[in-house]
Amino acid sequence: MTGQSTIQIYCRKECLPEKAYVFDTVISDRLGIQYEIVQHEQDSYLMRLDDRILEINDDFFRHIQGPPKYQLSMMPTEVNYLDSEYFPEPIPCLYGQGLYETEDNHLKLGFDLISTVFFCLSRWEETILEKDQYERILDEQSALVQLQIVDIPVVDYITHFIANYFQLQAPEEIFSYELVPTHDIDIHRYFSSPFSFLRSVIGDLIHRRKISWAAWTLQEGIKRLFTPQADPFDTIDLLMQMSEAKKAKSIFYFIPRKEKIAGASYDLTDPDVLKTIGAIQSRQHIIGIHPSIGTSTNKEKWANELDKLSSIVKVKHSRQHYLQYDITETTRIIDTLAPDLTDSSIHFRKYPGFRSGSCIPYHPYRLDSRSAASFLALPLVFMDQNIHYSSLTPQETLTSVKKIIDRVRLVKGKFVILWHNSSWNHPEWRSYQEYYQDLLNHATT
Ligand SMILES: [Zn+2]
Repeated sequence: MTGQSTIQIYCRKECLPEKAYVFDTVISDRLGIQYEIVQHEQDSYLMRLDDRILEINDDFFRHIQGPPKYQLSMMPTEVNYLDSEYFPEPIPCLYGQGLYETEDNHLKLGFDLISTVFFCLSRWEETILEKDQYERILDEQSALVQLQIVDIPVVDYITHFIANYFQLQAPEEIFSYELVPTHDIDIHRYFSSPFSFLRSVIGDLIHRRKISWAAWTLQEGIKRLFTPQADPFDTIDLLMQMSEAKKAKSIFYFIPRKEKIAGASYDLTDPDVLKTIGAIQSRQHIIGIHPSIGTSTNKEKWANELDKLSSIVKVKHSRQHYLQYDITETTRIIDTLAPDLTDSSIHFRKYPGFRSGSCIPYHPYRLDSRSAASFLALPLVFMDQNIHYSSLTPQETLTSVKKIIDRVRLVKGKFVILWHNSSWNHPEWRSYQEYYQDLLNHATT
């Protein structure tokens, strides 16, 4: 048994903070093994544990002098696949070439696994990609999208490869497959007041140009003028029931600040909202914070919203509204204000899969301080809106998500799914009720 040993890692002197982040995450945090770094002059990393040596090409960091200044010319342009007896699937590598030589207990790789892990987890490419009107990256510009490996948890594959090569047990407290249903409460009630449906009808007709939606809204709105009925967005109880049937706990993210223009339509202190929060807590599901538009680069706003929700519940989970997450600033803000939090904002809006190449919680990299953050990232893998944003048909998306779930299971990661409370009774979503159920079933059988 090699559990008590220390891995010795020989590497060059360039970019040690970046390399240490990769070793801390993969070797210490995940595999629970100590390591020590020994500097050498060779163009490769040598990892040694007992009588086994893994030699990995240093194809990236050895070319960088001083702190990295990330630029387009450093982006990966091709994928090489590492096929081996140490992991059942081919592993995409973003740097290095496809050399694979083995002799006695020494495996020599031309692939640069270290900078591949760093590229995925640090998300440094986001500092140079273009942004949309909400300051979010354009997903299609990401190298992971362009190289078509968004649906592969690259970092987790590499972690298992290293564990298997050195015959290490992957600790169960880190590696345990789990379904994590999550729900952003952007809009608490569709009919927020007796005549609010009239405004929705106009919105359906003029902005959304959907006559059938307008007809539905009108009919449902008028019905409620005469007889009280459940609100179409009041699906919390149902969502909890569906999670409980799968022995899963749901996380419900609430927006602390009401702002009509950015899809935050309720006041946290509204008795009806407080009742919902109480109902969720009484069934041991989880309340998280859903910081509103503009918080991703504004620490004061973020702090203010955290204070508001913290006065009602203890906040341990977060997800940015609109998935508005600035890789440098939002990471810094969360780490400074709430180092104990688990954040679930990392996700490509248009593509189900792995924006950071991982579905196992990890400490994000702080690009400002070149070190690991204290809080945890729990990446989002699939959300209802992916169906609409994707260029695939809904059926094709469903098939691809099932394949993704199988990969999450293979690496013993977390399948984090987002289904909004509003994505159920409205005509836009009614036909997808079985879709959600189908995914929960696939994720638990
Ligand atoms: Zn939201």
